[in-house]
Amino acid sequence: MMGRPEGLKLIDENGRRIDGRKKYELRPISMEVNVLKNADGSAYVEWGKNKILAAVYGPREIHPKHLQRPDRGILRVRYNMAPFSVEDRKKPGPDRRSVEISKVIRGALEPALILEMFPRTAVDIFIEVLQADAGTRVAGIAAASLALADAGIPMRDIVSACAAGKIDGEIVLDLNKDEDNYGEADVPLAIMPMKNDITLLQMDGYLTREEFMEAVRLAIKGAKAVYQKQREALKRKYLAVAEEVAGNE
Ligand code: UDP
Repeated sequence: MMGRPEGLKLIDENGRRIDGRKKYELRPISMEVNVLKNADGSAYVEWGKNKILAAVYGPREIHPKHLQRPDRGILRVRYNMAPFSVEDRKKPGPDRRSVEISKVIRGALEPALILEMFPRTAVDIFIEVLQADAGTRVAGIAAASLALADAGIPMRDIVSACAAGKIDGEIVLDLNKDEDNYGEADVPLAIMPMKNDITLLQMDGYLTREEFMEAVRLAIKGAKAVYQKQREALKRKYLAVAEEVAGNE
């Protein structure tokens, strides 16, 4: 949300956005699981111009030991932006924003995990943003959720996520960087689609109550479309495994 260049229109007279999308259209999304040899689970997501890698380790013994919980495992999340991921070089290392995003992503994913099955252990998720163009927290959640499934960690559901927002007075799906910068509001959301449980809901900017409800409804629809893509990515992995097994018989 910043002062926009004079004359810049985010929606043209034909209802098209600067990248050609319609109001309720997602950016192109591609997903792949099992992309890293040395992690227990991993996923790579391209979502518009976002490029995000997620790696999962665990459940494994916790260090330092005083963090252990006798009744359940714990989830740790690190969201990190590469120095080359944004236009102005990002100073390496954690900052306020990445600490906050790590925390809300942890909160978005934790309800899906059956951590009671793994007392005294930790599941660690590393989310590396290689290229950022707005919506990295929702794309990071989608990638992390796939990496957790790829690691075989018992889950109640796959967590899916998407944002909606307001640009030029209209509620639209999945803001890109220019829309995020020069628009009026952004509402990222994560859900466990099977039960429609919302596990993350944030808002940046200003919306009326009605606009907020419209944005939430739209973001849920977007997240459900993302969910289908996550399921397809997982199915592709298991098809590849099945083909490999068949080939060896
Ligand atoms: N961004 C940036 N430099 C930074 C942090 C963010 O250029 O140090 C950009 C990046 O493209 C990011 C966008 O601003 O995706 C929006 O950031 P926000 O904090 O709203 O989180 P996101 O939308 O990525 O979840």
